[in-house]
Amino acid sequence: MKVTQHLANAKKTIISLEILPPTKGKSIESIYHHLSPLMEFNPSFVNVTYHRAEQMYKKRADGNFERVEIRKRPGTVGICAAIMNKYKVEAIPHLICGGFSKEETENALIDLHFLGLENVLALRGDAAANEKFFTPHPNGHRYAEDLVKQIIDLNNGRYMEEDIMDGVKTDFCIGVAGYPEKHFEAPNLDTDIYYLKRKIDMGADYVTTQMFFNNEHYYNYVKRCKEHNVNVPILPGLKPLTNKRQLTMIPSIFNVEVPYDLYNEMMKTKNEADSDKVGTEWLLAQCRDLLKNNVPVLHFYTLGKPQIVYNVLKELF
Ligand code: FAD
Repeated sequence: MKVTQHLANAKKTIISLEILPPTKGKSIESIYHHLSPLMEFNPSFVNVTYHRAEQMYKKRADGNFERVEIRKRPGTVGICAAIMNKYKVEAIPHLICGGFSKEETENALIDLHFLGLENVLALRGDAAANEKFFTPHPNGHRYAEDLVKQIIDLNNGRYMEEDIMDGVKTDFCIGVAGYPEKHFEAPNLDTDIYYLKRKIDMGADYVTTQMFFNNEHYYNYVKRCKEHNVNVPILPGLKPLTNKRQLTMIPSIFNVEVPYDLYNEMMKTKNEADSDKVGTEWLLAQCRDLLKNNVPVLHFYTLGKPQIVYNVLKELF
């Protein structure tokens, strides 16, 4: 079922989860181990992230180095199919522009359609590890809005090869990313929302936000989006913060702030159990407040410590 249908049918706030594929060489059992306990809370859908290839230098037998492309976390589409099969729950693959030509994107979408996947999260992706700025594939998309357009084209039966007449129409529900504290490249929040609106005008159905640790950022974002006539559901992304290292790592990777009180409480912790407790209580308070404000979805980034998300959900429901 499409995310939009889940939202339309919901009588109260629904739950969704986001996971990462395991690193190459690990079994899919690690995903099941991660997800199975959380199924108790009937998530409406599970997002699976996509990780582009990284360029690395490998030493050859002759002592010289060669540049190779390695995907450390392949398997997004396979995991989506496995999740749908095992749990009978909707799985949403993330699809990125980075590293993909338009033709590869079209072929990926055809695979998803044949597998019966009805939802995708359309993203630009970040710069590759060896790049300073995001560089699109020479025959690919520069911005997520261009990817949204390609998906809409396919939903209308328009394929890249113009001689395909009466092409099968896909029917993807399209999510896009939004940033309550603005995307790091955007000069200001209004400009970022202006480009978000273009993704919606292009045909995206809903927005999933970057994580935030202060709900005021989310409420302000929803308000500012409405002022810009962004009228689709905006799903809040939530992540437990569970150790001191993340206090500086999360802001530097995701460009979000860690509130002073959370920082202070975490700094006082002496061991893992203490840190988990601080992270759990903060997330729980965020969720209670969001529920009070009737958000459509609580979307949890479960990477790392699914047990914390489990404990929070057990308290809430
Ligand atoms: P865009 O919407 O293209 O925006 C990128 C920047 O360009 C923004 O600053 C925007 O304001 C600006 N912009 C947009 N359109 C235009 C335009 N037409 N002209 C000029 N400027 C423009 N990354 C992954 O690699 N894999 C994942 O699975 C993944 N999942 C994510 C899930 C969520 C919910 C979120 C919030 C992010 C995720 N990311 C993922 C990270 C994301 O790919 C990066 O944040 C990336 O830098 C931007 O992607 P975007 O889709 O928001 O890009």
